Amino acid sequence: MAEAKSDHQPEWLGSRYSRQMLFKPIGPEGQRRIAASAVLVAGMGALGTVLASHMARAGVGKLRIVDRDYVELSNLQRQMLYDEEDAARMLPKAVAAQAKLAKINSDVRLEALVEDITPANVGRIVDGVDLVLDGTDNFRTRLLLNDACFKRGIPFVYGGAVGSHGMTAMLVPGETCCLRCLIGSPEAGAGQTCDTVGIVAPVVDIVASFQAAEALKFLAGAGEARRDSLLTLDVWHFQCLNIRLPAPKPDCPACGLKIYPALREEEPDAVVMCGRETVQISGRGPLDLNRWEAHLARSCAVSRNPFLLRADLPEGERLVLFPDGRVLVQGTDNPARARSLYDRYIGS
Ligand SMILES: [Zn+2]
Repeated sequence: MAEAKSDHQPEWLGSRYSRQMLFKPIGPEGQRRIAASAVLVAGMGALGTVLASHMARAGVGKLRIVDRDYVELSNLQRQMLYDEEDAARMLPKAVAAQAKLAKINSDVRLEALVEDITPANVGRIVDGVDLVLDGTDNFRTRLLLNDACFKRGIPFVYGGAVGSHGMTAMLVPGETCCLRCLIGSPEAGAGQTCDTVGIVAPVVDIVASFQAAEALKFLAGAGEARRDSLLTLDVWHFQCLNIRLPAPKPDCPACGLKIYPALREEEPDAVVMCGRETVQISGRGPLDLNRWEAHLARSCAVSRNPFLLRADLPEGERLVLFPDGRVLVQGTDNPARARSLYDRYIGS
């Protein structure tokens, strides 16, 4: 049956969101609130692509996405917004995702940032949003977002997945504990990564969908329906555990003592990245890709697009240079080796 659409109503009252508004806990008022909201999805990998798709389809007013990486063939197994063409073109994930999301819902104001989230820029990245959705793949960045959100009073929806296992919690400053209270130091969350044990795609969709559900409750003004628990699940050996969130710890450096240690830390110079043999070097300053293309072409096979320059080194590894100064060293997970190749080709 054809759906009637009035010319006198804004799009959010028309057919696009009719099923969402028919759902009583949201209704037209909830939809109006969703349309007036601004959301950040941090990380546009497996979780992030599902989260951003849900937010765009639900009709948030403004959607900011941020990711430091570019699309590779090994991402396509689980990162739902990308295709083979994106990988062949080595598009930054934020750029490729923005193009897809704009086709999904042209009413959403999209803002795509190709950046690493650091203590220096996290304030700007979370500024002006009502909600932050965690699509990151490491605890260093999660704790950075946690501290930035709790300092500003922005709710943070934690999500993580590795192997067939995932977990998620909605963390609200002043009401629930924070991520530090749940997991402690980053070392406590280290060990198993998608690099060491792999990942099956369905667990990602499930975790991200639970995150998106909490986001919709919050954005629609239905906070009373919030799930105050840490949900952990395993889709392979089916297990599901729903643990009530502990109270905020009085001695927690973020939500208790309000010191927010992650915001004070120096960015580590070399970071081993989850998911593949890659080390990121922060770099000293902007890189002129034209100049570096000419320079590296003397000793390496180089290829580039407007966003990055790739150099296949004679040693077997590969460098990927970004204009903001970051360099990915691919083919090693050893920071010292990466540092050495960086110094060899880029200099310090
Ligand atoms: Zn805390």
